[in-house]
Amino acid sequence: MMTKPTASFPVSENVAEMKASSTLAAMQAADTMRAAGVDVVDLGAGEPDFDTPQNIKDAAAEAMRAGKTKYTPTAGIRELQQAIIGFYQREFNAAYERNEVMATAGGKQAVFNAVVSLINAGDEVLIPKPYWVTFPEIVTFARGKSVFIETEENEFVLTADVIRRAITPKTRLIILNSPSNPSGRVIPPAEFRQIMDIVAEHDLYVISDECYLRFVYPPTEVFSAASMRPELRRRLCIAGSFSKTYAMTGWRAGYSLANAEWTRAMLKVQGHSTSNTTSISQAAATEALNGPQDSVAAMLAEYTRRREWLLGALNEIPGLHCPQPEGAFYAFPDVRGCCKGKLQTSGDFANALLEKEQTVVTDGAAFGAEGFIRISYATSLDRLEEGVKRIRRVAEGGG
Ligand code: PLP
Repeated sequence: MMTKPTASFPVSENVAEMKASSTLAAMQAADTMRAAGVDVVDLGAGEPDFDTPQNIKDAAAEAMRAGKTKYTPTAGIRELQQAIIGFYQREFNAAYERNEVMATAGGKQAVFNAVVSLINAGDEVLIPKPYWVTFPEIVTFARGKSVFIETEENEFVLTADVIRRAITPKTRLIILNSPSNPSGRVIPPAEFRQIMDIVAEHDLYVISDECYLRFVYPPTEVFSAASMRPELRRRLCIAGSFSKTYAMTGWRAGYSLANAEWTRAMLKVQGHSTSNTTSISQAAATEALNGPQDSVAAMLAEYTRRREWLLGALNEIPGLHCPQPEGAFYAFPDVRGCCKGKLQTSGDFANALLEKEQTVVTDGAAFGAEGFIRISYATSLDRLEEGVKRIRRVAEGGG
């Protein structure tokens, strides 16, 4: 009997509804042009241009030499769990137990574990705009419904009031990300506290993605949701990452902090998918937290220098407006006043930059903010200067 040929692969409904990552697509476009010998200015990358600090690499090498190359517990090695607990105790006076801490393959997996452990089909998940591209896709995968919250009126600073207005009887979870990718904006701590009070009032849960926690610019202070009262912390899963803070994107090291029951559910998800993140990366991450922190301060100082220059230069471009981001390493300007009205969308603007000026930025529409572009300053000041020249040419000329 002949088997019937399939016209195409029958992708599952869960996955068919997910969109491919547009930030990764921007990275790919830059790679293809570079491979063809083009002088690309890549302002699309969401990763530090710094090398992983030497003490962290040494710890990984030592772990390999010592034979620490086997499976670990799904939640991670004890030393790393203790290092994470120690950090939150020291910095935010927050007491976490080991059964509330889990090492993950990056902050991304922490968010994934947390969402799929909580969300049932049809549950509503509040996601403030502009959002990291991955949040709604994970919600889709879990069969939940993303409900987006507008913040543009307040220059992308989230308030408790807009959260309150978006809650319905179906709301179950709110995903917060401060400092934000892509806007760099920070949720003021007073607003964050009010949001947590609303969350308790309505019996909801929060994922606080704190991947950019350590990169905030004075006078803004480093703030973690971990500093909430313990009864509010019960409703909270913190997703953390070593990727940005220690320039470790390729190591795939992150963590979650959540109540013991939520953590147990997340352990099931991870235990049947990726198991533990690599033993070697865990040794490196332990050193990252326990070792000297001067590399973090040095990176922050360099981002500060670039940010200052970049914001000044961008705001001199006619028609372009860029509010001051308090954290992360992105500028998120409004380009709707640029190009003498010749280009319709921020996607047109990003395409014109790519095609005419070989410059990669990310279209704000990917983050739910049409009219804006994301410019990463995780690249040298020289390249930023060249990039801004090119952006200006497109903004003035209309592509
Ligand atoms: N969360 C946000 C807001 C991010 O921007 C990123 C990376 O771009 C991540 C999580 C994922 O980081 P990781 O490399 O730790 O998975």
